[in-house]
Amino acid sequence: MLTIYTHQGRRIEIILQSELCDPVNMGEHVRAYCHIHGSDHQRSLSINKATGWGHCFNAACNATVLVGEWNPAVAKRLLQLYYQGLFSAAAPSYRPPDQQRKRAPLVSQPVLLHPPKSTARWQQEELAALLSLDEQMRIALAHSQRVQAYLNERKISLEMALTTGVRYLPAVMVNRLEAQKQRGVLRRWAERILFPLVSPFGKGYIGRSLWHWQPGMNENVHKSLLDQPRRPRRWIKTNPAGWFGVEFDELSSSIILVEGTFDLLTLLMAGFQPTEVVALAGTAAQIDWFPPQVKSVVLAFDGDQGGKEATSRLADQLVHTGICVRLCSPPQDTLGKDWNERWRRMGPQGLSSISEAFLNPE
Ligand SMILES: [Zn+2]
Repeated sequence: MLTIYTHQGRRIEIILQSELCDPVNMGEHVRAYCHIHGSDHQRSLSINKATGWGHCFNAACNATVLVGEWNPAVAKRLLQLYYQGLFSAAAPSYRPPDQQRKRAPLVSQPVLLHPPKSTARWQQEELAALLSLDEQMRIALAHSQRVQAYLNERKISLEMALTTGVRYLPAVMVNRLEAQKQRGVLRRWAERILFPLVSPFGKGYIGRSLWHWQPGMNENVHKSLLDQPRRPRRWIKTNPAGWFGVEFDELSSSIILVEGTFDLLTLLMAGFQPTEVVALAGTAAQIDWFPPQVKSVVLAFDGDQGGKEATSRLADQLVHTGICVRLCSPPQDTLGKDWNERWRRMGPQGLSSISEAFLNPE
């Protein structure tokens, strides 16, 4: 067990699975006797199996724990920050967190840890239903001419979509589901292209509606169609949601961060490697999600107001964590406001600024 304090004075015990005292399985959670305060008559330690985060319900103890093996990405990150001296270890004689903070190096505190809130039952059912259909949705994507026409319109190949785990849920597949409950939870996902998401809290999906999209229909025309009242939402997400890209551990040391899932597919079409690009997909960039091997990041968000704000906020946080940051928004010309639009119109030339930022660090 390793006790660390974040700069905010938060105390976290990183523990190993083998340290759990007589654990029992309780569905989503594991309950164990708390070895931190030494209880042996109540299993007061409750740990979420999916996230590794747990809590001791004994009021005098109130420990926050992370089981390392159950959430290696976050545990690795915490340990790395600890060994870099950005966090303080608990000294043999206990010091209150205030004093710990004074001893810590002068680094602005970017690390915000958010043990996840528990998800609603319908959200759990929704995610489980989608995961159970993953293979069928892959086959549906491979066979749907309509979706292929849509991808073609965006100059994304079917092969690239399949390689990155993109899926399609046709309305007919939802209607054919035997269980009425599953039909209910998945109705809002019908006729959507799905993108798999990764997060420290598990897998998820984000889905883009193709409702009333017709081959030849321009992206902006379809957007305005869906933006009317009482239409399906253009994008919906599961809980947990997350980022679109490879698993955190597989990311390269130098990455490009983009806003949208189609931006990511566009960059891969242009020759970037899957390990080099991450799309936030509408989930805020959590600084503690960046795995330790990432040393440099190109922020390639949209040039609009929202993109600019996200860029400057995140750039500050990344720099404070010691990550090298370069900025590259789509150029302010008339050739396309996002990377996919530029790719459609100009091909590789439309992405030349991003290649320069990525390949030529200063
Ligand atoms: Zn305890």
